Amino acid sequence: MKSILVLSVILGQFLLSGAAGVWNYTDQAAWSSMPGSQCSGSNQSPINFPPMVEMVYSENLKAFTFTGYDQLVTSPTIVNNGHSVTVTFTNDARVSGGDLGSTFKAAQFHFHWGNDNTRGSEHTYNGMTYPAELHVVHYNTKYADISEAVSKPDGLAVLGFFIEVGPIHNCNFGPVIDALKNVPDKGNTSSLTPFKLRHMLPMQLRDYYRYMGSLTTPPCSETVKWTVFRDRLYMSEEQLQEFRKIYFDLSKSKVMVDNWRPPQPRNGRKVYISFDVNANSSPVHLVNLSLAIFIFCVQWLAM
Ligand SMILES: [Zn+2]
Repeated sequence: MKSILVLSVILGQFLLSGAAGVWNYTDQAAWSSMPGSQCSGSNQSPINFPPMVEMVYSENLKAFTFTGYDQLVTSPTIVNNGHSVTVTFTNDARVSGGDLGSTFKAAQFHFHWGNDNTRGSEHTYNGMTYPAELHVVHYNTKYADISEAVSKPDGLAVLGFFIEVGPIHNCNFGPVIDALKNVPDKGNTSSLTPFKLRHMLPMQLRDYYRYMGSLTTPPCSETVKWTVFRDRLYMSEEQLQEFRKIYFDLSKSKVMVDNWRPPQPRNGRKVYISFDVNANSSPVHLVNLSLAIFIFCVQWLAM
């Protein structure tokens, strides 16, 4: 059973990394001509989120329920797949609620980042880019595994988080960042110190943006219910720099930077928001962020 699970995770990663075909971030125009590609479809990701007034508040976008997110991940493995670093695990972490319409199981997470802090995120907000973006990829548990789900219209749910530069190290990313030095080249894999998925995420997960889109890498399958959260994550400048020290290839000729796809046309798609901008804003947003990171690092490690 366990070997099947591991195989499923690896296969899912294979599909999501686009390893079924050779592609790169330099020539994204070529993605559309790859076999089975939907990259020139009309429901592509990422997108630019418009100003708040142009997004639609939906009462259906209730709070998410996370299960297993507060457990230590088991068999965490980080892979340099030549496009990003992807972390997989074998424990059962799920998300439901939030008008997802089903329960979705976490399969992996990965990052997109820039050559410098002026760019790196895939989604943008009102034209603004961020230095990096975290994607936690889930598949619908009505399907056997992620490889089956990836081609289904309701197959995937990805949680996205903008990452900004913070004043101090965010220790919640420590296990991932410490492991980056072990995966400098394409194909490298490494174990990493177990951690809790919940610790990586912002405290406040109630406010988010929602739209229907696609994978942001070939084959750009239009099977993703996207959730991008209003609250940002933070890393120190030094932590972001660690991502910029690994390579796209085996010969260390191409530093892995700018592994992001730019915003795609919305083509009339609505973007929904889970919070009413006309109501009182949550006071959580007023928390001093560096203090919050510090408290989390101390308190959460003690849990
Ligand atoms: Zn991604």
